[in-house]
Amino acid sequence: MAAKGVTDRTCPDCRSPMKENSSKYGRYWDCTGPNCTWRMKEDGTGADRPTRAARIRAHIVFDALWRRGTISRDEAYHWLRKTMDLSEEQGHIAKMTKEQCELLIEKVKDWY
Ligand SMILES: [Zn+2]
Repeated sequence: MAAKGVTDRTCPDCRSPMKENSSKYGRYWDCTGPNCTWRMKEDGTGADRPTRAARIRAHIVFDALWRRGTISRDEAYHWLRKTMDLSEEQGHIAKMTKEQCELLIEKVKDWY
């Protein structure tokens, strides 16, 4: 018998079944694989824990850039897309890989 809450969703990374959870942001699914930290959102996008942690770090340093008022939020996102060579659609930290997040953090440091 499957563990409680385990769904028919399959981890895109390791193919293990995923367990449903929810937060104030909506439902999400965690991989039950023993060495896997993949988490999937309702829209089917997901990332492992190191990627999620990198995105959080990248958001903190990037948001500080426009929150300080040095440049506007729109300008900051324009700079992000240009610097990271990303399209309008892809130019979001939530869509970046861990490596892209780390690169972005380095690039933001040039502003300081
Ligand atoms: Zn997995």
